Amino acid sequence: MKYDFIVIGAGISGITSAITLAQNGYHVALLEKTNRTAPLMRGFSRRGVHFDTGFHYTGGLGTGEPLDIFLRYLGVSDRITSFPFNEDGFDLFSCENPGFEFRFPTGYERIQEKLCEAFPDERAAIRSYLAQVRTTCATIPYLNLDLDIDPTGALQRVLGQTVRETLDPLTGNVLLKSLLSMHSLLYGVSCEEVSFAQHSAIVGNYYESVRGIRGGGLSLARAFDTRLAELGVDVLCNSEVTGISTGPGGVLSGVQLADGDSLDCRAAIATIHPRYVLDLVPEGSFRPAYRKRLGNLEDTVSAFVCFATSKKPIPALAGANRFLIPDPESIYQLDNRPIGKAPLYVSAAYRDGDIEPHGFIGICPALFSETAPWESSRFGNRPPEYRQFKEQALARMQDQIERVFPDLAGNIQSIEGSTPLTIRDFCSTPLGGLYGVKHMVGQFNPHPATRMPGLFLAGQAVVAPGVMGAIISGFLACGTILGHDLMKKELKACC
Ligand SMILES: Cc1cc2nc3c(=O)[nH]c(=O)nc-3n(C[C@H](O)[C@H](O)[C@H](O)COP(=O)(O)OP(=O)(O)OC[C@H]3O[C@@H](n4cnc5c(N)ncnc54)[C@H](O)[C@@H]3O)c2cc1C
Repeated sequence: MKYDFIVIGAGISGITSAITLAQNGYHVALLEKTNRTAPLMRGFSRRGVHFDTGFHYTGGLGTGEPLDIFLRYLGVSDRITSFPFNEDGFDLFSCENPGFEFRFPTGYERIQEKLCEAFPDERAAIRSYLAQVRTTCATIPYLNLDLDIDPTGALQRVLGQTVRETLDPLTGNVLLKSLLSMHSLLYGVSCEEVSFAQHSAIVGNYYESVRGIRGGGLSLARAFDTRLAELGVDVLCNSEVTGISTGPGGVLSGVQLADGDSLDCRAAIATIHPRYVLDLVPEGSFRPAYRKRLGNLEDTVSAFVCFATSKKPIPALAGANRFLIPDPESIYQLDNRPIGKAPLYVSAAYRDGDIEPHGFIGICPALFSETAPWESSRFGNRPPEYRQFKEQALARMQDQIERVFPDLAGNIQSIEGSTPLTIRDFCSTPLGGLYGVKHMVGQFNPHPATRMPGLFLAGQAVVAPGVMGAIISGFLACGTILGHDLMKKELKACC
């Protein structure tokens, strides 16, 4: 069967692309190598507690805000229930040395007020930082629907100053700089490497409003499944794409699947890690310089992640995350601190229907090289030395969490973990990068249009990690195909 479009990978960006194209009347197939759509969103359960694996919270989902508009456009907003995080403190920054805590409230004005209370001598720096985040956010394609979309817009986010270069002239207060940089844990790039524009595009939405989704990422995945079915998209799971076929002039003509089947199409959007796209295209279809650029892309840091259930409810985590920061400098060094001395992000896990969490997820940045001795092993078949290493890593994470969170000491009922190897296999990133390609100043930013006619890219590598970044990447790819003016008009109709 010949499709108008094939979308490779059914993560959030692939689903967004498939829905957008189908809503515009095209015949679309969505191909996913695992046995279900949006595997990263679905999480898993232990002892009745649901653990999210790729979604804890988001910015920009308040009524009329960008993500709310996007989900309405995609036909899923009535199928999910979102809830506000604690407006007086959606994220709690806990620095151990020196001891200092700060609760991030929602809303620019309230953030400014609280920051100025905590750092009365830094009022000018705080005002300037927040004003710059706000202004920069308004220059991001699709976040601002009134903006003319420059087709190279994505690229500009790897230009300009880093966050550190922006903050250093504003203030010498190390604690304040660390606090304003702590959300780098949400995108896995240190403030010494990420551009201020990229940082603003992500944190600016959280500064406006912060929400979770009842039932977590799983509810969002299910809502998307219903919408895909409604639109008649052919969703083919267990369908790993192993090659891309071309016709005359090197134009994309279809894809080959791992089971030997092939499917024809007019064009395709690949939402997988760009380095894996190189394995799919025929030899010579990309010029060497482009191939090298994609092949050399550096990834974000990897992580150890723990999933724990608690004997007692953990009210302190209801609607609020913790950023455990051993010392202010640690936030600059996401990739060279051992567990215990590295920053750690802790988020809640809930039993179905509960308001107070009964578990938590801890994420600690780590390097893939820590698990390199076992890199040839696969999930479910790792050697005993690896399992021992993992136990030790988990014990160190638990120590750090209990040190800062004494309420939890003695109350952890069960704890499991994943390592950079697990993340490599689960997130399909070559070296376990938690958020795929690193968006850092100076690194090539893959663009939706590729050097192969008919092949387009979307996914967190193109715009930014996060549900918002993945959705915008789908819009950018579809806008490149259908016209950005059409996309903006359709989106504006949902405002
Ligand atoms: C631990 C963790 C916590 C996170 N927390 C949050 C959060 O709180 N809020 C937030 O907004 N974001 C969060 N994120 C980020 C967010 O989950 C991702 O940025 C987003 O889901 C990426 O979507 P994507 O479509 O770009 O990529 P993916 O979800 O990786 O989609 C790519 C898909 O392609 C499939 N695939 C790969 N190769 C092939 C092939 N050859 N053929 C067919 N299919 C293939 C993969 O199986 C995958 O399903 C988190 C991520 C992680 C890892």
